[in-house]
Amino acid sequence: MLGVPGSGKGTQAKMLSEKLKLSYVSSGDLFRNMDQSSEIGKKARPYMDAGELVPDDIVMELMKEYLLKNRIEGNIILDGFPRTVNQAEQLESLLTIDHVIYIDISEEEFYKRLGGRRTCPKCEKNYNIFTEPKPKTDGICDDCGEQLFQRKDQTTEALKTRLEVYHDETEPLVEFYDKLGIVLKIDGMGTVDEVENRIEIALDNAKKSNIDPE
Ligand code: AMP
Repeated sequence: MLGVPGSGKGTQAKMLSEKLKLSYVSSGDLFRNMDQSSEIGKKARPYMDAGELVPDDIVMELMKEYLLKNRIEGNIILDGFPRTVNQAEQLESLLTIDHVIYIDISEEEFYKRLGGRRTCPKCEKNYNIFTEPKPKTDGICDDCGEQLFQRKDQTTEALKTRLEVYHDETEPLVEFYDKLGIVLKIDGMGTVDEVENRIEIALDNAKKSNIDPE
């Protein structure tokens, strides 16, 4: 799954993994959920908070270890990895990528979706001050009654950095995978259901053209 942060790739990847019974692996979740006092955790945190990419060697160490340790077999959906051409090149020796689902949204939408996001410190539910889901009471979690907060990597400053990093480091992957003819470009504007539908159609068409002898 490829796309700017906030493009909805995480949501779509999880739904697709359930529908197609595939394993789901998110490098961002792995970094967030790991022991923050571990060697890798301590190294990664400052980059994550600043909205920068964690250096490739750390990412590859984490991903290799995770894929091997958990004996992930069969088909998987990768979310947020690879994120640089270097990572993609190294990944080629580990597994084969069948499809790259590239979800495209506008810059304005990126700032609206991520800059407006507020999170509950207790249950980690996300809300948005500009779009749905909004909390019933401003700034308070509907379920826990806790004060919502803005994640460090979602402040305006960090978002600017994340967009720049995305354009410089991650967007070149579209071309990298386009040369292999495996990119499915999906319009990410609209509802979750609409985008889900577009992905389904694109995957069906890709399968059909793989079977087609021409
Ligand atoms: P995400 O939730 O996918 O946006 O990831 C959160 C943060 O984790 C990113 O802003 C990066 O700092 C770091 N991260 C996750 N995946 C990668 C990756 N493949 N390469 C470098 N940094 C990553």
